[in-house]
Amino acid sequence: MNILILGSGGREHSLAWAVMQNPKCDKLIVAPGNAGIAQIADCASFDIEDGGEVVNFVATNAIDFVIVGPEAPLASGVADRLREAGVLVFGPSKAAARLEASKSFTKEICDAANAPTAGYGHFTDAKAAKAHIRKEGAPIVVKADGLAAGKGVIVAMDEQTALDAVDDMFGGAFGGAGAEVVIEEFMEGEEASFFILCDGKTALPVGTAQDHKRVGEGDTGPNTGGMGAYSPAPVLTDEVAQKALDEIVQPTIDEMAKRGTPYQGVLYVGLMIKDGQPRLVEYNVRFGDPECQVLMMRLGGQAFDLMHAAAEERLYETQVNWADDHAITVVMAANGYPGAYEKGSVIKGLDAVSGDSKNMVFHAGTTAKNGEITATGGRVLNVTARGESLQEARDRAYAMIDQIDWPEGFYRSDIGWRAL
Ligand code: ATP
Repeated sequence: MNILILGSGGREHSLAWAVMQNPKCDKLIVAPGNAGIAQIADCASFDIEDGGEVVNFVATNAIDFVIVGPEAPLASGVADRLREAGVLVFGPSKAAARLEASKSFTKEICDAANAPTAGYGHFTDAKAAKAHIRKEGAPIVVKADGLAAGKGVIVAMDEQTALDAVDDMFGGAFGGAGAEVVIEEFMEGEEASFFILCDGKTALPVGTAQDHKRVGEGDTGPNTGGMGAYSPAPVLTDEVAQKALDEIVQPTIDEMAKRGTPYQGVLYVGLMIKDGQPRLVEYNVRFGDPECQVLMMRLGGQAFDLMHAAAEERLYETQVNWADDHAITVVMAANGYPGAYEKGSVIKGLDAVSGDSKNMVFHAGTTAKNGEITATGGRVLNVTARGESLQEARDRAYAMIDQIDWPEGFYRSDIGWRAL
């Protein structure tokens, strides 16, 4: 089978790595890819958010199956264009991708599905939004409705911060994404992510994870795209996971099907868990990055069969073969990230790190130049390891980091601390 993966991050490197381990994969192309992906697959360059270009590429390269990594092509309808052209694709339609692209839409679905989530109000003008904040009081959470790259959420511990956030959002700080605002009840608890493959009807859990969003040790400092993750998430016990599936996930999938917009692809379920009760924080319509890296490390080549079964609407006959193992990924980022950072520094020592089913360095912002690997992004490497315990996986990951020679980069030395 000839497979195309869309995307260029650590998530897509790990997807490519898993797919390549499956004997059904004859040829793999990743667009646009990165320097690490180029070591295991062909890379191609075209506009992955333009459905027409993707369909053309698929036709001229005899691609049988497309896996969409990031949310932007999904939100712009690339999966729809592929399906219209008769191409098998893993990823939701534009209509179903609204579960990530619009927070008020997700709230409306939760209402219809009776899924536990934070109480909320949905506003299209600042005056009503502020009146709601004054009535509810702080802490309270203010969210731009649309996609804002993880920056459109303000968890306000006092009323003034919430009122200011409303002014910012309606003042255009997030462009069109802030033209509508959702204001939510503040939920307490521990957060974890639950990953579900869906084929429109069936929901198949493929793992749990927890990530570290803050840049600094002990989960301090500014937010990032994620500085590390581990799987499984201890807080998502079998019992809590079953509750989340029965009360949140399956009712959502049923509601989407009822509306004529079935959900097919991976559903990233962000949960807040308190006293054994999960509530929905958010949905994403793609694998998380870096959570995908730990899931792929644990799933290996079967990940391809599972995604393929989801695309062919036959998840009901599929199951996941679990090893009772743990995986962790530690992000190495360029000095200065998430603020301004330098590009073009050379990373050495990567050849010394063995790449196998237990140890992998997944690349994110890297480019190959004159035979060297250079850092060209903020988050640059995902040092990922698997072990029989989280401690073993973690020791392995940090031992790999010791072999990497990149003075212009940094990492957190406490990934997984909560679980250990
Ligand atoms: P991302 O996709 O980058 O995680 P996002 O912009 O889609 O972010 P959310 O996931 O909705 O935004 O919120 C970001 C973070 O804010 C959550 O991970 C959580 O820590 C916090 N948060 C969001 N909603 C609430 C809530 N109602 N109560 C408490 N914390 C919340």
